This record gives sequence, structure tokens and C-alpha cells, in this order.
Amino acid sequence: MRTDAPGIVLYGPGEKASRRHDNVSLPAFVVFGKELRVLMRGKKMPGIIIFTDLDGTLLHPRTYSFEEAMPALEQVRQRNIPLIFVSSKTRAEIEGYRKRLKNGHPFTSENGGGIYVPAGYFPFSAGGVMRGGYRVSVLGKPYGDIRAEFIRLRERTKAPVKGFGDMTVNEIAALTGLSREEAALAREREFDEPFVFAQKPDERFLRAIEERGLRWTRGRLYHIMGESDKGKAVRTLKTWYEREYGRMVTIGLGDGLNDLPMLRETDHPVLVRKEDGSYEEEISLPNLIKAEGVGPQGWGRAVMELLAARK
Ligand SMILES: [Mg+2]
Repeated sequence: MRTDAPGIVLYGPGEKASRRHDNVSLPAFVVFGKELRVLMRGKKMPGIIIFTDLDGTLLHPRTYSFEEAMPALEQVRQRNIPLIFVSSKTRAEIEGYRKRLKNGHPFTSENGGGIYVPAGYFPFSAGGVMRGGYRVSVLGKPYGDIRAEFIRLRERTKAPVKGFGDMTVNEIAALTGLSREEAALAREREFDEPFVFAQKPDERFLRAIEERGLRWTRGRLYHIMGESDKGKAVRTLKTWYEREYGRMVTIGLGDGLNDLPMLRETDHPVLVRKEDGSYEEEISLPNLIKAEGVGPQGWGRAVMELLAARK
């Protein structure tokens, strides 16, 4: 991407126009064939970023609906605030939600395993290699390695655990409440293996993961992964935004233990209620905001309040 004149951004062949320009009301948006796009530079980025978990937070824990958060999502869109999905979901699953929510911002998949930045989003090369229209930063370990470790640890400890790699698409759908199509996307793992215990959690298995120098976390399911976590991904993304736009105020929203590293990194950490009305008991932070409402309802209320205070 080159900035050739004030107010004009040129995109070279193969580069996608970036969302932060798409988002603003543009005086002109011209596409020359498939080769070059010229956009008028719009208003500046607001000094806020929202990092959010999906399952159980922006998406309802049972229905996966984000309907109740719509008014707040609309405000976020109107104010051109980057809304970053920080999920244990796979890239393939998150892409579906980015389409549905018309979201063109970076995101991080599988508990911080990978960061995906749309090509040309930042005026500098943010992260690693170009793949599928994104600049991809890999913070996690490859799924093949994680899966092999999972099997070895299971054999050694005889723990009754089952991972997504052991399940059919139908089994994953039954376990998660996802449709068959979504369950198939959830199985396209790159960095972490979701798993369940046959009965109650087996502490020996979790300790064995730690002894191998790997990590585990818990959202609705357990996950085994490398040294990545949502916090590291958020820290990296925040650095890129601040490099381009200066100091940013960050809001983080989650519902489970796997969100704790992300919430720790944000100025305004928000915890939403679980389906039974409770809050994740293992999360306590000095400035934690406990949102009134399950999943997307709590999300909407907390975001509206935080944004109203920063008009
Ligand atoms: Mg969650």
C-alpha cells in the first residue's frame, strides 16, 4: 500500500482495501478493474479497541445468537471501532462470523494460536507470512504436534479423555450444539485440541500437560495447546494499533477461564454471565466489570455503557 497524496490511499495488485477505510463514509470509492483500488482517506481511528470472546460472550452460550448485542454492535460499527474476535474457534468458523457481522478487522483463532490481519490493514507488515489474504502470525504450536502429544499423554495417564480428533462431525455437533456445517468448520484445527473428560476432570491429565511444557485452558470445553494464549495475541495486536494510531484504550469481554489472559491485558475487562446466571468464579481482577446479562445481553449493556462514557 502506498500513500501518494493526502487523502488518497493506493492499493497494489492483489491487495485488499482495508476495512478501516471501508468503514467510513467515503466521498469516493473507485475500483480500476481488478488491479487497483483508490480510496479517499476517511476520518481517523477512534482511540478504542474492543477485544471479544465469541462463544458464550458475544454469542449466546446455547443458541450462538448475537441478536441481543445488535444495538451495541451497531454503535461500534458507526463509531468505526475495531472489533477484534479473540476466540477458541478456528479460522474457518470465525470467518463465518466476520461475514455475518460485516467485520473486516484482524482476529485471533484457537485461543491465541494464530493472528490474522487482513492484507493492507496496517500500513506496515504486521506479523508473519501472507496466506489467504491475511498476514498470519503463528503464536501456537502446529495442531499435528498438539494432537500427537494429546494421544501420548492419554496413553500414559490412562485418562478417559476424548478430543475433537477422536470425534465425528456428528459427535462434535451433539457435544457443542453447533450445526453439522459449523461442527465441520470447528474440526479444522490449526493450533489447539478441544477435549472433554468422560466424567469429572482428571487432575493428573492436566498436570501431565503442564509437565510436558504445554498449556491447557477451559472455555466450555477443555483445550490443550502450545505456549500461546489469548493475552499474548491481544498484546501483539495492541502494539500494532498503537504503532499506527498512538495510545488506545482497550475493552475486553469474556465469560470463561480461557479469557483471563485477554482480560488481564485490557483497560476495561468485562465478564458476562453464563447461562445459569453465574460468573466464572476463577476470574477476579481489581477493575473487573461484571456485566448484567447472559452472553450477548451482558455484552451489549457493558459496551453501551463504556462507549457512552467515552463519547
Ligand atoms: Mg467463551
